[in-house]
Amino acid sequence: MKFLCVDCDRQMTFEERQLPGDGTLAVAFKCPGCGRVIALLTNPFETQLVSSLGVVIGGRTVPEQPLEMVRGMVATGKEDAFVEGRERGAASGPVWSREAQERLARVPNFVRGMVKKIYADYARERGIAEVTTAVMDAARAELGLEGM
Ligand SMILES: [Zn+2]
Repeated sequence: MKFLCVDCDRQMTFEERQLPGDGTLAVAFKCPGCGRVIALLTNPFETQLVSSLGVVIGGRTVPEQPLEMVRGMVATGKEDAFVEGRERGAASGPVWSREAQERLARVPNFVRGMVKKIYADYARERGIAEVTTAVMDAARAELGLEGM
């Protein structure tokens, strides 16, 4: 992950990194030309995603955290890697409303399968037969998945 100062056309250098302990990751980058500093702040879920992918931030890798499924899915690149029971008959999975499917389609490809599984699991655990945008909103609020 690198940042470019558009004004100076120079690559910004890693300034500092903070891991407050609640899973939030803050990284600062500074332009060596004009001194502009920008900070990257991620929520716990995003931090875990970045960590699990082994992305090096500021020259060092964030401590490894268990989220192997993301790495596995990215490696295969299969969007439906987490659609369960596809071969065994998908009768157990929840139905997706049209609006929910459209919203899911806006999720970036490489995490869509995982996001879909998170919502499907959320619905299944609560006995919800259809994933609607309202269900997605509730799941997001409850699981802290803002922006997904
Ligand atoms: Zn600059």
